Amino acid sequence: MARYTGAVCRLCRRSGEKLFLKGDRCFTPKCSVDKRPKPPGQQLRRRRQKLSDRGLQLREKQKARYSYGILERQFRRLFTQAERQAGITGENLLVLLERRLDNIVYRLGFADSRSQARQLVRHGHIMLNGHKTNVPSALVKEGDTIGWRKESTTTEYFKQLTQSIEAKSVLGWLSLDKKNLVGQVLSLPTPDDIEATFDGKTIVEYYSR
Ligand code: SF4
Repeated sequence: MARYTGAVCRLCRRSGEKLFLKGDRCFTPKCSVDKRPKPPGQQLRRRRQKLSDRGLQLREKQKARYSYGILERQFRRLFTQAERQAGITGENLLVLLERRLDNIVYRLGFADSRSQARQLVRHGHIMLNGHKTNVPSALVKEGDTIGWRKESTTTEYFKQLTQSIEAKSVLGWLSLDKKNLVGQVLSLPTPDDIEATFDGKTIVEYYSR
């Protein structure tokens, strides 16, 4: 499936805030938002000054898409799933996004960014409940375990990770065995557990038109 391959920092600048798409670099002075806070391009700069309600809704939706690295069609499908669930659609959407396997790999600290996590899954390094899976969009459930394929534990990346992971901590709804690099979903996250850079309610308004 086609994926955005341009400069990801541009997406942050277009959104007007940090979306943390580049791992450690996002926390350094090299971050483009810190260096050049204005959106890219004169035209966009003019457009941004008079953003309509619709424009604001679109921006929230795009921020969510960019943050999780999802294409429009896939995002729309998740939104439809969120709508069908009981409860508040915006919150359901947020939880569904967090349940994606690539996001869990990122949240466990196995990768510095979601795009790197997606690559690890795609290349078959990750095991879900003891089975190799290469589907980044797979949704995890409570009790699921996420580990590494045996062959991948001999790679230089894995060896370095066993050292660097010591300094990392995981969110309360996840657990991590740092020795064997096996994580578990203790419970599904609640909206309060998730620090979102976007507003789910505004995304609902965007699709409700
Ligand atoms: Fe966004 Fe990170 Fe690039 Fe900064 S360094 S603009 S937060 S992707």
